[in-house]
Amino acid sequence: MNASLSAGITDTIAAVATPRAAGGISVIRISGNDAVKIASEIFSPVSSDIPVVEMGGYTCAYGRIFDDDIYIDDGVLTIFKAPKSYTGENTVEISCHGGIFITDRVLEVIISKGARIASAGEFTKRSFLNGKMSLTQAEAVMALINSEGRESHRAAVSLREGALFKKISKISDELLNLLGKLAAWIDYPEDDIPAVSEKEILKTLTNVINELKRIINNYDNGKILREGIDTVIVGKPNVGKSTLMNLLSGSERSIVTEKAGTTRDIIEEPVRLGDIILRLSDTAGIRETEDSIENEGVNRAYKKLESAGLILAVFDNSEPLSDEDYNIIKKCRDKRALAVINKSDKDTLLDQENIIENFRETIIISAGKGDGITKIEKSIKKLLELKNIDAKSETIVNERQRACIKKSLDSLKNAVEAIKSGTTLDAVIIILDEAENALLELTGEHTTEAVIDEVFSHFCVGK
Ligand code: GDP
Repeated sequence: MNASLSAGITDTIAAVATPRAAGGISVIRISGNDAVKIASEIFSPVSSDIPVVEMGGYTCAYGRIFDDDIYIDDGVLTIFKAPKSYTGENTVEISCHGGIFITDRVLEVIISKGARIASAGEFTKRSFLNGKMSLTQAEAVMALINSEGRESHRAAVSLREGALFKKISKISDELLNLLGKLAAWIDYPEDDIPAVSEKEILKTLTNVINELKRIINNYDNGKILREGIDTVIVGKPNVGKSTLMNLLSGSERSIVTEKAGTTRDIIEEPVRLGDIILRLSDTAGIRETEDSIENEGVNRAYKKLESAGLILAVFDNSEPLSDEDYNIIKKCRDKRALAVINKSDKDTLLDQENIIENFRETIIISAGKGDGITKIEKSIKKLLELKNIDAKSETIVNERQRACIKKSLDSLKNAVEAIKSGTTLDAVIIILDEAENALLELTGEHTTEAVIDEVFSHFCVGK
């Protein structure tokens, strides 16, 4: 249990747990020390003679809901006794007819009897603070509610079942073990404590680094498959960017003309290419220009190029490389960029070798003739190192979790570098401590109230 953080919880919270809309049934949830007492003051069982305060956990009763003497609705009351409830506290759920007025009225009476309105995610927050689940499992609850497809559902279920928590705990234990050995070695070098060899340290660190890398890669791959990758098509005017865009999207969206500089703005369009979704922007041709409107487009194209997850850099096979082409090659350096040499149906005047040398992947196609789609798909997959999602892998579901793992991973890589360059063990221990702390922040074992509040602020009320 997160004793220090849960110590302050004494009040009873309530909220409508179902959507605020007319429907068959609504559920109002009460949790906390006074949950059963409050429920007993507004609910009169009809299906049995047992008063609410004497009902056992996991039992329910059909009955009538009152505001003192005023009848509100019929409903079903379910009791969960601490600690065997979602929050770990006494919890009561009342199902009544699903009208907005009725549910608001029932909630109002519950509040008048001493509960307070729960904030977003507060039931799950209490569950976390009462040690019923880790922070990552709490986040899985939200991911589960928000899952929109098979892949995101699978990821949320895996996380909810605690696979990640177990894996991270194991890694964290390995690091702690290593830290313990290193600390002992520094404190008592003359004692009989077995020395930790550099080889042993590096082996442990490499294993841990690989495990964490695998988790991040799986998340990134899943994200590309779920949400698509921000893709930008760049190239000087007239190389065939719009034609390529139209080929990819199978439509005639961008304006294709003979006159250089016609595609002025950035047009965005999601395009499915096999398994991958490209969130595609066709940009104004990159080139210096006097035209102010076009210049604006060109600036935006450069900006987009900096932030894109994937660049398709188009070159004209029928022309020698120009200054603008060289500029684009320079801008694409060290980025995930695919060179597309277009107009392969025309005689080659382009220095193809130069392009091939400067890009990790190059394809030669004729967008105008409508070929090249399969080549593009294959090269993009290679460039993104997009392998199949490992369905058995531990999964993370949001950017906070990714950032914690990334932080840990970076520290571990720094530790490896430090060891290889002969840095003192004291310094290595500090770096490894950072790696360990990032993992504890991930699971919520070592975290601040601000982080917890931030996590739960994304939840819905009533969950
Ligand atoms: P952008 O300015 O880069 O968007 O270029 P466009 O897509 O507007 O194409 C410029 C011109 O090149 C048009 O006349 C296209 O029909 C032509 N074009 C595009 N792709 C090819 C190709 O593969 N082969 C040939 N021969 N012409 C092409």
